Amino acid sequence: MTARRAVVSGASIAGLSAAFWLRRTGWEVTVLERAGAFRDGGQNVDVRGVAHEVLDRMGLTAAVKAQNTTETATVFVDASGRVRAELPTDGPDGATAELEVLRGDFARTILDHLPEGVEVGYGDPIAEVVDGQDEVEVTTRSGRVLRADLLVIAEGVRSATRDRLFGDLVGRRVLGIAMAFGTIPRTSTDDSRWRWYNAVGGRQVHLRPDNHGTTRAMLAQARSEDVSGLDRAAALAHFRARFADAGWEARRVLDGFDRSDDVYVDHLTQITMSTWHRGRVCLAGDAAWCVTPMGGGGSSLALVGGYVLAASLSTGSVEDGLAAYEEWMRPLVDDVQKVPDWVIPFAYPRTRVGLALREVVDKVMTSRLFAPIIAKVSQVARTERPLPPIAAART
Ligand SMILES: Cc1cc2nc3c(=O)[nH]c(=O)nc-3n(C[C@H](O)[C@H](O)[C@H](O)COP(=O)(O)OP(=O)(O)OC[C@H]3O[C@@H](n4cnc5c(N)ncnc54)[C@H](O)[C@@H]3O)c2cc1C
Repeated sequence: MTARRAVVSGASIAGLSAAFWLRRTGWEVTVLERAGAFRDGGQNVDVRGVAHEVLDRMGLTAAVKAQNTTETATVFVDASGRVRAELPTDGPDGATAELEVLRGDFARTILDHLPEGVEVGYGDPIAEVVDGQDEVEVTTRSGRVLRADLLVIAEGVRSATRDRLFGDLVGRRVLGIAMAFGTIPRTSTDDSRWRWYNAVGGRQVHLRPDNHGTTRAMLAQARSEDVSGLDRAAALAHFRARFADAGWEARRVLDGFDRSDDVYVDHLTQITMSTWHRGRVCLAGDAAWCVTPMGGGGSSLALVGGYVLAASLSTGSVEDGLAAYEEWMRPLVDDVQKVPDWVIPFAYPRTRVGLALREVVDKVMTSRLFAPIIAKVSQVARTERPLPPIAAART
């Protein structure tokens, strides 16, 4: 039997996981990444729930563990840096997960361990797709033509190929939260904890340790204008105008971002779709179901999706496999995407009264009585269902 062929668009966690598992199950795989080289940047992501098992099956748990960000706990601080409350943990999936890793380190680990034979090409993205009865034909911007049994679109939340092919089906729930992530120099006041500061005006400042001798910072504001289309200078100016008076370490973060070369800005938007496949084309990761950091677990779902896709396709036709992939993944995603309307105003209080109320609630919720309930909130990508089995390679 000749090997089936897949084209995967996007070389981050979802695309590389799909490439890894499709190749393991005998597919010929070509990955097309839009960027001119592997994209190394990005801040803290984690491995949660059933993603632990997928990572184990890839044989990569030790490799990811070795790159742990060294974070030990999550605390809320006040404007002077004093700890107001500490988020409880309950096993490996607490607010600070057992497997905390930088996005770039995580994606590179999968890239470095791809089974032999996966082709990864950079800087030549898809220009055109013709989805036919027997094959899907992909033409890249340089004119290269690839004929395949399957196209996997794993291009992230703002996927252009998804919008072209599934435009009418792409639902967007704009959460109205602007976030800027970046790497800044570590100082002697930084420690091994994730420190989280809330300021009036629906603003948050976060500082987290990493394993590279630097500090990972994040600024976030609710009810914000859309920042997703801003270039670097405009994005930095936007956050400076809104955070200069936020207090605690906000000014240090703003100054650090000015000198940082990996500032990543996002306007949180969930992607909701009634289907993740059409003909011989399917979606994976944020392109299909972006849950945003408000839901959490985006990297875990991206990793799991690659496995479930290949497992579902390993037992039958592309059509049946894509239906089975979607059926298995859907409940996991639905669970994380449910962000009730009250959560954002609670997480981002606007007024002094709101902030004071939030501080009282934090004290109660992190008390011994409520800690077990709160610890459950961070448990995403969990399921009692076993992962679908993967059949032996069909080559
Ligand atoms: C550089 C970078 C930094 C990030 N930093 C953070 C962060 O700090 N905090 C956070 O919570 N999340 C961050 N994310 C998002 C996070 O990685 C995802 O939410 C999650 O891991 C799911 O991954 P994904 O593979 O579905 O999508 P993504 O990680 O977004 O990857 C999508 C990939 O597709 C590529 N791509 C896009 N368009 C095309 C195209 N037309 N053709 C081919 N390739 C294309 C992108 O370059 C990227 O490599 C970052 C993503 C990237 C790419």
